[in-house]
Amino acid sequence: MLFQTDVLIVGGGLAGLAAALHLHKTGLKIILIEKNSYPHHKVCGEYVSNEVLPYLEWLNIDINKLYPSHINRLQLTTTSGKSIHVDLPLGGFGVSRYELDNFLYQHLLEKGIEVIEDTVNEIAFDNDIFVVHTLAGKEFTAKQVIGAYGKRSTIDVKLNRPFIKEKSPYLAVKAHYKGDFPNDLVAVHNFNGGYCGVSQVENQHLNICYLADYATFKAHKNIETYQKKVLYQNKYLADIFENSEMVFDAPLTISQLAFGAKTAVSNHILCIGDTAGLIHPLCGNGMAMAIHSAKICSELLLQFFDGIITSRVELERKYTSSWNEQFRSRLKMGSILSSILRKDKLTDILLTGAIKMPFILQQIIKKTHGKPLISK
Ligand SMILES: Cc1cc2nc3c(=O)[nH]c(=O)nc-3n(C[C@H](O)[C@H](O)[C@H](O)COP(=O)(O)OP(=O)(O)OC[C@H]3O[C@@H](n4cnc5c(N)ncnc54)[C@H](O)[C@@H]3O)c2cc1C
Repeated sequence: MLFQTDVLIVGGGLAGLAAALHLHKTGLKIILIEKNSYPHHKVCGEYVSNEVLPYLEWLNIDINKLYPSHINRLQLTTTSGKSIHVDLPLGGFGVSRYELDNFLYQHLLEKGIEVIEDTVNEIAFDNDIFVVHTLAGKEFTAKQVIGAYGKRSTIDVKLNRPFIKEKSPYLAVKAHYKGDFPNDLVAVHNFNGGYCGVSQVENQHLNICYLADYATFKAHKNIETYQKKVLYQNKYLADIFENSEMVFDAPLTISQLAFGAKTAVSNHILCIGDTAGLIHPLCGNGMAMAIHSAKICSELLLQFFDGIITSRVELERKYTSSWNEQFRSRLKMGSILSSILRKDKLTDILLTGAIKMPFILQQIIKKTHGKPLISK
């Protein structure tokens, strides 16, 4: 059976879901294909920058219905026991991906947007049209395809995207816990080979999520030993783990994380969210960037379908330059910061400087975050 559409969105994380809601507002025919069923947990720090709030409101998404925590302070600590608190200029909210992605998905269903549960395994472009195939054997044709399938996929391998050949030396672990933790704070605790984010989500649950260097991890037998031997060297982390009770049966893990440069357009596919570029989790801005890139991409697509942008070449050029303008320097700053935070001594030097001159941290936060997506 052949399905036809104006825009086909591959992947229904925050980027794909936001793009579907935006494009649907304009009357275009949209199909979104997502390989997993909703709701599901994802490995993520679950701190969302408030910069997305005005745009989510414009999409008729009322985050308060999910009872998020409201976060306006950041704590940074080191294994040597240093700790600093700073105010977050814009602040953010804490809500699980289980709830957030599902909430947006329910909005798509209410609006009658077609969502298909299947895995895309081939995207071909020929004669100015896309032909997309799925694992279940379905075939789709689309005038435009948005790639919103996240960090890495077999699609990237088939498209021969250069980043896929780079080393991917990180893994990440996440679980929810019951425990005491301020509901206005996001903490980033440094440990040898990585860093761990802690903040509250809905239900007063704690989300504890860390990124670790595979080289330091593999010397230990399992997650529990690794946590006790390595993460516990930071006394703040030891205290949190010792006084919290995991509510998941087991932590979720992902591996093969890489932060190499990507392109915003690949074989004419407009890439959004992590498919276009992955910022170090430490910055707490990946979700905002995913939602923001969906907005930029949708606005340009509308101009394309309205005839204001007159060719595919112009569309791709404009999207690439808008993406670079918005996000390139954030990714760079994230990468510098992360390489500091994976080294105990450098983190110590950074924090010693920041304790004496707290404005250093404020500047770093500004450089890894954006402004509100719609100014009021
Ligand atoms: C350890 C860690 C901690 C993080 N912490 C934070 C944080 O605190 N704050 C923050 O803002 N960001 C954080 N991030 C980043 C954030 O998680 C991502 O930037 C965000 O999820 C990107 O959304 P997305 O929609 O692009 O991708 P995703 O959320 O990954 O969605 C992609 C979707 O595509 C689907 N898919 C994949 N392949 C296919 C296919 N072939 N066919 C169909 N569907 C497919 C997947 O199932 C998935 O649902 C963190 C990331 C990591 C790794």
